[in-house]
Amino acid sequence: HAGAAVAHAQVRVDLAAIRGNVAELRARAGSAQVMAVVKADGYGHGLVQAARAAQAGGATWLGTAVLTEALALRAAGVGGRLMAWLCAPGERWTDALAADVDVSASATWAVDEIAAAARETGRVARLHLKVDTGLGRSGATQADWPALVDHALKAQAEGVLEVVGLWSHFAIADAPYHPVNTAQIEAFQSAVALAEARGARPEVRHLANSAATLMLPHTHFDLVRAGLAVYGLSPVPDLAAPPDVGLRQAMSVHARLALTKRVPAGSGVSYGHFYVTDKETTLGLVPLGYADGVPRHGSGGDGGPGAPVLVGGKVRRVAGRVCMDQFVVDLGDDDVRAGDDVVLFGDGVGGEPTAQDWAQACRTISYEIVTRFAPRLPRVYT
Ligand code: PLP
Repeated sequence: HAGAAVAHAQVRVDLAAIRGNVAELRARAGSAQVMAVVKADGYGHGLVQAARAAQAGGATWLGTAVLTEALALRAAGVGGRLMAWLCAPGERWTDALAADVDVSASATWAVDEIAAAARETGRVARLHLKVDTGLGRSGATQADWPALVDHALKAQAEGVLEVVGLWSHFAIADAPYHPVNTAQIEAFQSAVALAEARGARPEVRHLANSAATLMLPHTHFDLVRAGLAVYGLSPVPDLAAPPDVGLRQAMSVHARLALTKRVPAGSGVSYGHFYVTDKETTLGLVPLGYADGVPRHGSGGDGGPGAPVLVGGKVRRVAGRVCMDQFVVDLGDDDVRAGDDVVLFGDGVGGEPTAQDWAQACRTISYEIVTRFAPRLPRVYT
């Protein structure tokens, strides 16, 4: 069969799209630098591949959540500025310092642990202090901020660390004009002013995520931390589809039909028979399931149509429950056969659904759609 290059299913990643998206973000960021956020295996696109493509597009910084991701980048030979921001007590700080990874502190205990690691290794830690301006997640509360700043500046005076960054994170990314964001911007400016008045001389002040990079230029400061947009997905799908803001979706998910068969009206499909055919039809079996990362919420038949896929040039719907390794599509009277290509989603140019279409069908966000695909699915880079 033609198209036999796809064994059964694969995730394709267009690295040129990532490069182009970062170049677009760089242009929008003006004089601010771009940090490409490559946590969660590069939002499912492959940690090292995404990082290298982002650097080729002009990202001067890379960001990860946990330290193991940052260390994996260094182990693969990825250079450039690199920050890991999610730590717990007893973190492998000495490994972070040895690998030249910038770290973050939201509390004085973290400053103490980082300073101790710096004394132990004789390296100067590069530290970003995080203030909680309203997300209610990590970061020092505004009440605790002055003490954190003073604590870090004391360690800086000792020569064990340098406060290179002051930063925070937005709470309501998908509604950039929400008043909470406005309050966060003001809180961040106050926190920066307070730290600077106490002697901090940060190299980078950073607040913006993808949404703010695209929609709120006054939040760019010295560095923007863009994740979703790097991969060509819109953080504000209701306001701007990716092409509207110069982005192209990098990931597409492909499979080949494992089986097709003709069934009569009244046939129950998949576990629970939540889908029953209303006329004679052709069913197609797609060899991808929730163990591969296809959300079970994409199942049809229980309160709405299933998630869309492109088969034989037409958009068809998931029929019945998504199973662990497979799902079924109702193909009507289409002349489609086992071995034919199925596209779950792509950039939409070929008429296929997008990751955002899947997110909508599964009542989630595109972040979750792209980060879920399992290691057993091969990644193919183009
Ligand atoms: N900064 C931090 C601290 C994050 O946790 C994330 C991701 O959630 C980002 C930046 C990137 O956000 P986005 O993918 O919306 O650009």
